[in-house]
Amino acid sequence: MVTRKDLAVLIDEETLQSRILELGKQIAADYEGKDLALIGILKGCFMFLADLSRAIERDCTVDFLGLSSYGAATTSSGVVKITSDLTRPIEGRDVLVVEDIIDTGLTMRYLLENLGTRRPNSVRVCTLLHKPANARCEVPIDYVGFTIEDHFVIGYGLDYAERLRNIPYIGYKP
Ligand code: 5GP
Repeated sequence: MVTRKDLAVLIDEETLQSRILELGKQIAADYEGKDLALIGILKGCFMFLADLSRAIERDCTVDFLGLSSYGAATTSSGVVKITSDLTRPIEGRDVLVVEDIIDTGLTMRYLLENLGTRRPNSVRVCTLLHKPANARCEVPIDYVGFTIEDHFVIGYGLDYAERLRNIPYIGYKP
């Protein structure tokens, strides 16, 4: 059992927020004149998407996809189930997938294949965290908040067995 007292800070709130402001500015500039559809991957994205969407000073829609991965809590099996689908079609839209972390890349590979069948105009990927040490497949990542070492990270939306998502920084158990 891990509690918040066991955690060391990997990325503090101030560092998170200033990087997210930069990402928002870059995304707003890149999507000028486009029909931007932000799609957050539940549940881990909820805090990041709330902050990122406010940093993107441009009209857009926000929708969510709920995914759950089969298998052990702290490893990716790559077998993914859609638990809650988008509420609107994305045909012809410029989709930006917003994810908390890309680890093996297997979840994102599945997701990009799935979204591609819905005929969007474009699909890009924005992840707050990237852990390249565990990559098991190549996935295109267009926007990365932070590249991190191989820690199991917790907080700012990321859970430890469904707990601790509400911690306002990114931590890990040393
Ligand atoms: P992937 O398929 O890229 O291995 O993993 C993607 C999903 O696994 C993430 O969306 C997240 O739910 C979970 N995950 C991967 N690494 C971590 C981690 O360090 N901490 C937590 N809390 N979840 C992780």
